[in-house]
Amino acid sequence: MSRVNPMRPQQTTSSGLKRMVLQANVKPEEAHAPKPIRSPAKPKTRVLVIAHSDRGALDDHARQALAAAAILADAETTVTVLVLGELHENLSSAGADEVMVLPELDFQQFQPDVELASLLAVIKSMQPMRIFMPDNLIGDGDLGRRLIAHSQLTTATQVVEIDTKHVASYQAGCSVLAVCNLPEIVLLAANAVDTDLPFSAKATHVDAVELNHASGEYQDLGLQTSSAAEIALEEADFIVSAGNGVQNLSTLETLALQLDAAIGASRVVVDDGKLPRDKQIGATGKTVSATSYLAIGISGAVQHLQGIKDCRHVIAINRDSSAPIIKRADLSVIGDAEDIMQALIGEIAKAKGANA
Ligand SMILES: Cc1cc2nc3c(=O)[nH]c(=O)nc-3n(C[C@H](O)[C@H](O)[C@H](O)COP(=O)(O)OP(=O)(O)OC[C@H]3O[C@@H](n4cnc5c(N)ncnc54)[C@H](O)[C@@H]3O)c2cc1C
Repeated sequence: MSRVNPMRPQQTTSSGLKRMVLQANVKPEEAHAPKPIRSPAKPKTRVLVIAHSDRGALDDHARQALAAAAILADAETTVTVLVLGELHENLSSAGADEVMVLPELDFQQFQPDVELASLLAVIKSMQPMRIFMPDNLIGDGDLGRRLIAHSQLTTATQVVEIDTKHVASYQAGCSVLAVCNLPEIVLLAANAVDTDLPFSAKATHVDAVELNHASGEYQDLGLQTSSAAEIALEEADFIVSAGNGVQNLSTLETLALQLDAAIGASRVVVDDGKLPRDKQIGATGKTVSATSYLAIGISGAVQHLQGIKDCRHVIAINRDSSAPIIKRADLSVIGDAEDIMQALIGEIAKAKGANA
């Protein structure tokens, strides 16, 4: 099937940025219908998407870079994604025609020289006409800049707007939106592209290149782990958050300790003086981006949801199945907060005992 016309209508977001509309006029009954699979008819060119995986999956930001490449690719262009780190998911719905995985290049290991050398080898063999990367802090932004420094290619970083011919980035402390021609290396800012594609692709796996260990310029001394209580909420990977429905905060603290999770709270809990102000999550509190966010006795008011918009998995414990948090949650447990927390603490203790 031919690719979707990238000149499709655009909408303007509240912040004034243009977004291509992918799924306009989709009827509700068609929303879950299988999507057509497109594959480039006579591939002549290739675009390369490069991103680290996180525990076997690409995060939203990486999928946005992939979606940008898939939307802009024409019928003669193959979209190849190079995944650095393990991959345990299928990327066809994310728009990948081809997938190459380099599991040894996990982002938890600091080896930028090996990554760059391997990347240059892939680029040399594939000769992509354009490269897309998420401009993030887990390694892709850094690797992208190293690639830029080693190449003569045209580039743009922190791209917030993109179409077939142009990209735009904020400059001068966000006071100016600078526009330039679509460059060869695009480092995409988060949320610049919608990942809900109206097609899927074949996601054929291709053989990986040999890693290039040549330089060894850096020595990784390993990760230093610190307890969840010591790190800032914005950096926490697992957050257990208390709402007004939590009667017994000490049970929640025990649960957080068992799970090695940081503690957050809704504004009501903070206003009541049960937890300090720096634990408040939401519009007037902190914005968090945990992989797992356990919301206990939190209704999910819009101001609270604003603070957890970047969390990957939201789990809600609430006795009201119609609470707004249930809609946001990937998993909901309906019941009394205290009972469920006690049950969880018991199960975790059992599991830890069995493992020991
Ligand atoms: C300008 C402005 C800024 C704001 N900023 C923020 C902000 O940054 N962060 C924020 O969180 N809020 C903010 N708020 C407040 C927000 O609107 C809500 O009032 C607040 O988030 C509600 O907190 P809650 O969900 O903990 O409490 P509630 O609204 O009281 O909800 C409690 C929830 O717990 C459930 N529950 C009750 N008992 C149990 C039980 N025994 N077991 C299981 N579930 C139970 C209930 O079903 C309910 O869903 C702001 C409001 C305004 C106007």
